[in-house]
Amino acid sequence: MPDEAQPPKQPEQTREAKPLGSVGMTGQQLAEAKRYGRYDLVCTLADKGLDLAYLAAVAWLLPAPINLWLKRYLPTDNSFDMSLRLVAMFLIVIAGHVCVSFPLSFYSGHVLEHRFGLSNLTFGGWLWRYAKRNLLALAFGLVIFLGLYWIIWTTGRYWWLIAAGAFFCVSVLLGQLAPVLILPLFYKIEKLDAPELSQRIGRLAEGTGLSIGGVYRIGMSEETAKANAMLAGLGRTRRVLLGDTLLDGFTPEEIDVIFAHEIGHHVFHHIRKMIAAGIIYSTAGFWVCDRLLTNAVPDWDGKYRDVPVWTLPLVMLILTLFAMLLEPLQNAISRRYERQSDRYALKRTGRKDAYLSAFRKLAKLNKDDPHPHWLDVLLFHSHPPIAQRLAMAEESPAASA
Ligand SMILES: [Zn+2]
Repeated sequence: MPDEAQPPKQPEQTREAKPLGSVGMTGQQLAEAKRYGRYDLVCTLADKGLDLAYLAAVAWLLPAPINLWLKRYLPTDNSFDMSLRLVAMFLIVIAGHVCVSFPLSFYSGHVLEHRFGLSNLTFGGWLWRYAKRNLLALAFGLVIFLGLYWIIWTTGRYWWLIAAGAFFCVSVLLGQLAPVLILPLFYKIEKLDAPELSQRIGRLAEGTGLSIGGVYRIGMSEETAKANAMLAGLGRTRRVLLGDTLLDGFTPEEIDVIFAHEIGHHVFHHIRKMIAAGIIYSTAGFWVCDRLLTNAVPDWDGKYRDVPVWTLPLVMLILTLFAMLLEPLQNAISRRYERQSDRYALKRTGRKDAYLSAFRKLAKLNKDDPHPHWLDVLLFHSHPPIAQRLAMAEESPAASA
């Protein structure tokens, strides 16, 4: 249920003084989008703060007692016992994290989405998705951290370089598998079965190397009222996924523009570039981890074979913190890619009118605050504010057909 409607705070805009990038929202819609953006920001900050506080507490207080307790059952320091202790330690840390973070996840993922009329899920439906997401993250995390410690234990001093190489391979593998194995766990995905639309977007994709066989309809409406589209996959799994919410609620011209935006990501190799940049981030992250780890182990003698299992929460904390610090940079790059794809979409379709109406529709549907605070954008937004995306189009010379 949406919040109790509040009267618009500002007077009605005069028609002739429409500012550049105007989203065409009523005062009430704008206020609601602002309120949703504020709640979202507070939840994001609380979530990150909670993650750091929890990991810091576990890293400083718990690892030694947990390790001692685990050693009663797995006493030796051979690789089998150490691996099992690591798995147990990981499961304990994650179980604690789920307990600590569940209330906020429930509030931001379910309560808030319903309050703003954006969720189509029952509580059971939400809980099932939440469980699936966490089980998947648990399975991946287990493989990744076990792999990481094996690399530390067996390769020694330059483990961080080898770990970065391994991380790159995992990213490529995940990039390939995500659209065929992971997304279908959450959404119904089927080939686009709309001959006329397929023909239109087939023409847009011509010459870009993207095959029209790679265009899919993704059933988002089961989960949300929001509309979206995405480019996913690598190589043979490369595809464009168009939300059913988008296909059902937007005109063919508007869909053209959004599809062309996704082709832009494909044409400019954005996914590949992100993965390549990941090599730099992960090398730096694992190196920092190495420096801090060798300082944290008392009487460090340079023997990586002996890096103790109790360091796991510390490693998780360092990597989490590093990823958070890096996020603004990654978001800045992502916003740049989005602008590049926006310009491409305008040029490719030549339809400024459809571009403007598509993004206005998206903003209204998704309750996007068109003018979020610049600091919020700088830190957390992977996409430029809608008002900027509209202003860019209004200022562009692209023909309006
Ligand atoms: Zn995009």
